[in-house]
Amino acid sequence: MKDGHIHTPFCPHGSKDSLKDYIEKAIQLGYQSMTFTEHAPLPESFSDPVPDKDSGMSSHDVPDYLKEIKQLKYEYRKDIEINAGFEVDYIEGYEKETEKFLNEYGPELDDSILSVHFLKGAEQWYCIDFSTSMFQAALNDFGSIYSLYERYFQTLYKSMEAELGKYKPTRIGHMTLIRKFQLLYPSPDRWETMAGDLMKYVKEMNYSLDYNGAGTQKPHCLETYPPIHLAREASSMGIPLVYGSDAHTASGLKQGYEHIDVDLLHSSR
Ligand SMILES: [Zn+2]
Ligand SMILES: [Zn+2]
Repeated sequence: MKDGHIHTPFCPHGSKDSLKDYIEKAIQLGYQSMTFTEHAPLPESFSDPVPDKDSGMSSHDVPDYLKEIKQLKYEYRKDIEINAGFEVDYIEGYEKETEKFLNEYGPELDDSILSVHFLKGAEQWYCIDFSTSMFQAALNDFGSIYSLYERYFQTLYKSMEAELGKYKPTRIGHMTLIRKFQLLYPSPDRWETMAGDLMKYVKEMNYSLDYNGAGTQKPHCLETYPPIHLAREASSMGIPLVYGSDAHTASGLKQGYEHIDVDLLHSSR
């Protein structure tokens, strides 16, 4: 049982549950391996479109974050494998700063995720999973649900193509996050083709996928990222899938696991 996507008290929009709370809970749940993937600090020159500007951890806290994980990794070495990582945002146009961050801390990381949460519209940026109103604003800006999906998947392509240095994560976070509000905003007809084409590129690049349970807990989503039939397709293509709870509280560990096809899970990273 491995969980490759876990947040921590260092997340400004998460909970104050301590790293130990997460670890103790994980052991209780029978985890063998867990990776802390806090939202990496956003590039300094990027202005977070979320009102509280709390999408990423503070760059100030990064050394403490890594130090604490390192200590706990040792302390719990007999009980559970603990990995240090980040959920790194791919933000178009900010590749240099992202690479600089990765070059600085990459040597201390075991396992990370590359995600797209931010899309650039005509005049402003949107965090597509923040709220239904921000999703609606993005929809207005891009003109149609089709164009919005198209831009999202294009940005995922770009994230894989981007030059982010040798510590660039090779696991794509929640590849269908754009579906977070799918019950309110039905996906365009061709979306599965877009997703399928993207998976071909994931395979070509030798990347893996975060098989993320968080969407099952979101009232307008109610499915995993990616949904089970796409996860099966990915697996049949030979793409490794790594379960991710995307927990922002200790009690969120293992969320959505009952909706995961566990036979598809990759045993190593
Ligand atoms: Zn988060
Ligand atoms: Zn995420």
